[in-house]
Amino acid sequence: MRLQDKVAVITGAGSGIGRETAKTFLREGALVVLADIDLGAVAEAAQEYDATGERTLALAADVSKGDDVDSLFSAAREKWGQIDILVNNAGITQDAQLVKMTMDQFDEVIAVNLRGVYFCGQAAAKIMLEQGNGVILNTASFVGIYGNFGQSNYAAAKAGVIGMTKTWARELGRKGIRVNAVAPGFILTAMTEKMPEKILGAMREKCPMKKLGAPQDIANAFLYLASEEAGYVNGAVLEVTGGMTL
Ligand code: NAP
Repeated sequence: MRLQDKVAVITGAGSGIGRETAKTFLREGALVVLADIDLGAVAEAAQEYDATGERTLALAADVSKGDDVDSLFSAAREKWGQIDILVNNAGITQDAQLVKMTMDQFDEVIAVNLRGVYFCGQAAAKIMLEQGNGVILNTASFVGIYGNFGQSNYAAAKAGVIGMTKTWARELGRKGIRVNAVAPGFILTAMTEKMPEKILGAMREKCPMKKLGAPQDIANAFLYLASEEAGYVNGAVLEVTGGMTL
């Protein structure tokens, strides 16, 4: 068990990468707070992976709202008294080319994917600083490093997440808190299901491994970074893309 009795908060845990990460962390002995804007989705996931309900807490939280985030971290701490790991995973897309993108599309993606990460990171850091230890994991994207057609808002948010990851690693490292990010490539989830098969096929071809990723591939990266095996890894952005960007 690589995370025995560690308390992990995972946002966006109702679907895709977040849900798989919750399942993986539970399998490795963690106590998991599954948070999502959709309470039904996390309640269902918690029930599936923890039938007795002893090792999970499912909570509704919109990460773009400061009050929701404060309530989430208060409830998590009340339940288990500590927070060892945060997986900042909730995210959305609202794609459009630069000249067609609306202000709402821009603002909504920034609110969830950037401000939401900031709110959760700040709330977790306050608790982890009191504890003198903790691990913060952010979900970036290869798009935040290389850009992507039709994703000005998303690329800006994910580049911002990388900037915050490195900043927090500098600020918090000396206090016993490690901060890292995972930058996934194309992973088969509800987010990518929305994309035309033509684009997915092109991405599959572009990948030297000739396949897209699975949520488990990213959950494994989070597991490594959350575990003691990554005890000297801080400020890293781990690309998990199958080599697609080579
Ligand atoms: P997903 O299956 O759509 O899961 C995202 C989850 O976040 C959903 O349960 C969603 O709820 C929830 N969510 C949306 N807005 C929220 C909010 N304001 N507050 C709390 N929860 C919210 O997507 P995914 O592919 O697993 O993505 C997970 C993360 O990986 C995201 O940060 C994404 O940007 C990143 N990522 C994904 C890929 C990929 O190829 N899939 C690649 C690079 C990075 P609803 O379903 O109700 O909206």
